[in-house]
Amino acid sequence: MKKKINISLLPGDGIGKEISKEAYKVINWISKNSDLDFNINEELVGGSSIDKLGAPLTEKTLEKIKKSDAIILGAVGGPKWENLSFEKRPERGLLKIRKELDLFANFRPALVFESLINSSSLKPEIIKDLDILIIRELTSGIYFGEPRGVENIDEKNQRGFNTLSYTTQEIERIAKVAFETAMNRSKKLCSIDKANVLESTELWRRVVIETSKKYPEVELSHMYVDNASMQLVRNPKQFDVIVTTNMFGDILSDCASMLTGSLGMLPSASIGISEEGNKKAMYEPVHGSAPDIAGKGIANPLAMILSVSMMLQYSFNDKTLSDLINKAVNSVLEKGFRTKDISNEGEKVISTSEMGDKVLEELDS
Ligand code: NAD
Repeated sequence: MKKKINISLLPGDGIGKEISKEAYKVINWISKNSDLDFNINEELVGGSSIDKLGAPLTEKTLEKIKKSDAIILGAVGGPKWENLSFEKRPERGLLKIRKELDLFANFRPALVFESLINSSSLKPEIIKDLDILIIRELTSGIYFGEPRGVENIDEKNQRGFNTLSYTTQEIERIAKVAFETAMNRSKKLCSIDKANVLESTELWRRVVIETSKKYPEVELSHMYVDNASMQLVRNPKQFDVIVTTNMFGDILSDCASMLTGSLGMLPSASIGISEEGNKKAMYEPVHGSAPDIAGKGIANPLAMILSVSMMLQYSFNDKTLSDLINKAVNSVLEKGFRTKDISNEGEKVISTSEMGDKVLEELDS
């Protein structure tokens, strides 16, 4: 008997809509060819939700997606909504999902496919066989800290302010996830902070050290974020698992994306584990809605397809199916098929939907 699974698919805005169609194809392929039977419910988020429903994420949508077994999201945002007040912007919809579902652990792997080695701006020997995992804290830190806002100082002068805050508990739970992940990989963990100047990350460092006592097999190191950004491009293979705060993780993972050749190649998983051990999860590419290329059919759908692969592994413990998708993506690249963002001069460029079809052909074979 097939296992019934309910998925919420939130395409969002810009290229989010285009790459979601390719995720749809892959999920339907899995339904036809495995023991998993996916029922996909499409919902609105971001600018598309503002346009149709008046808010970046309605309570009704939130209730529906909370009941699903996993969420897949494309991307949100775009110039059309940039002048709205902060609370009404598309990005608030995404932040609300993360916060409401308490998706505190964001996994961002940066893995270099051998055949894309020349798409990176770094020398092949620096990135060959690179396989690192950035674990970003996702529901606290400066993106959520209070107080925040812009206030008037006098008639000519305003003050914008945000708060970077972390509690012991918030640091402990992300540190635990990071140590457990490191135990299943090379048992090496680097915690990135700015403990020399920011009190909140000085606490971060102390709590990570305290947590490390339960994981004596893991080799723990610490690095300041400015040095880490430099080390990521100088010698990225010195890292295996990285754990860091919300904002540092956001920036460092975009930096890591260029090691792999393109933002269009980076998937992510955001996981929340309740005290009772129940898991909630959302899967999405690391990139945004890319307004500069939206509607042209040239976006790279592979980060989205690899996010489906992460879903199979993290939410449904099906490493075999997850590996199958990764292998299909690898074969498509090995055969030389490229979207524009990962192509070099002289290479044949295919469209978003053709890339999705190529992955299906590989899965079929
Ligand atoms: P972006 O990630 O959308 O684009 C950055 C650059 O990478 C662009 O040149 C774009 O064309 C390229 N790119 C991104 N994804 C690609 C893909 N799959 N294939 C090919 N090229 C790709 O970042 P941005 O331009 O800073 O932001 C655009 C909008 O997206 C903003 O409104 C921003 O707030 C939003 N955003 C949303 C998310 C999200 O939904 N998770 C993340 C980041 C940015």
